[in-house]
Amino acid sequence: MHFEEIKQTADRYLMPTYAHFPVALAEGHNATYLDSEGKEYIDFTAGIGVNVFGVNDEGWKNAVKAQLDKVQHTSNLYYTEPVAKAAKLLCEKSGFDRVLFCNSGAEANECAIKLARKYSFDRYGEGRYKIVSLVNSFHGRTIATITATGQEHYHEFFTPFLEGFAYADAGDTQELDKMLDKSVCAVIMEIIQGEGGVLETSKAYIEAARKFCDERDILLIFDEVQTGVGRTGKLFAWETVGVKPDILTTAKGIGGGLPMGACLCTEKCGETLTPGTHGTTFGGNPVACAGAVEILNRIDDAFLQSVREKGDYIREKVAQFPGVKAVRGKGLMIGIDLTDKKAGAVATRCCEAGLLILTAKEALRMLPPLTITYPEIDQGLSVLEKVLAE
Ligand SMILES: *Cc1c(COP(=O)(O)O)cnc(C)c1O
Repeated sequence: MHFEEIKQTADRYLMPTYAHFPVALAEGHNATYLDSEGKEYIDFTAGIGVNVFGVNDEGWKNAVKAQLDKVQHTSNLYYTEPVAKAAKLLCEKSGFDRVLFCNSGAEANECAIKLARKYSFDRYGEGRYKIVSLVNSFHGRTIATITATGQEHYHEFFTPFLEGFAYADAGDTQELDKMLDKSVCAVIMEIIQGEGGVLETSKAYIEAARKFCDERDILLIFDEVQTGVGRTGKLFAWETVGVKPDILTTAKGIGGGLPMGACLCTEKCGETLTPGTHGTTFGGNPVACAGAVEILNRIDDAFLQSVREKGDYIREKVAQFPGVKAVRGKGLMIGIDLTDKKAGAVATRCCEAGLLILTAKEALRMLPPLTITYPEIDQGLSVLEKVLAE
């Protein structure tokens, strides 16, 4: 199909929840795509932080294909080798004790919310169910996770939302101290708010949250759906601040492009969710897990070092581009504030000129494949520089 036919068909039949860029991506290699008409694009999006090894990675494809040749799905009533391997590898490499696999970031956070509420119920009974999240956070699109999301515009239309959520201002430790009373079972936060504009949560605030949670037996949850799996130059971003949560959720990058999420926890609450209390038909699919094993095996110290170096290289260059006010982020999670131009308009122009790039609120955002090459980076940056100079 050519572009016009693809677009017309999709626009006619899909619910109109997304404003698509006017491009149909057809194939590619690493961080370089071809569209349906054969035009080339450099990819600074990785499918919103998902394709950590870009597209068409040989090793990942081979791992997935090998599992497809065996069995694609069994349900969680039976053991399979890739699921066992992915669970062991993820727990060992991340420093957590147990994991529940699911299919998305929102599902991983749903699991974290249920886990926190049951942990508290088991110990203290009814009434200690409140989850404190941060203003400007993003935790997903299900009813529970949009309730947890601390942005007003997500709290329209779908009333009534869930009871038992409260929002704290990131940075105000005194307020957090007051909010964490006997009705609270968990605090959830992102180390770097992704959808909120690539904003780092301060180390002092994260440390204070850890201290309050420890004192009051409140569970600390880090939502690493976007920051996880090497994105910030560490396997998980909590390592960049040295504060370990009780529960860590991740998704986007973990399956390398197949739908997959994970809710990890420490020993403390590792046996809270018992048979019958939580489950998923698709979660921990053996094909997705085979891909995750390949991803996790290859993200070693040298790989993470290269992620940090590429991120520094990009930030240094972009800081000198015309119309750039500030460049933020860690590793290959990069936010750019512009002086005059609107981020959305710049992203649209970049797309026309051969660069796929994201926005987050008023900022431009880059989440390139972690395997992006320097020639690909340079080609993408030259498009961005040209668009910013227009
Ligand atoms: C993307 C994202 C989610 C939601 O993940 P889905 O897979 O879209 O459900 C949750 N939290 C954060 C921090 C995210 O970036």
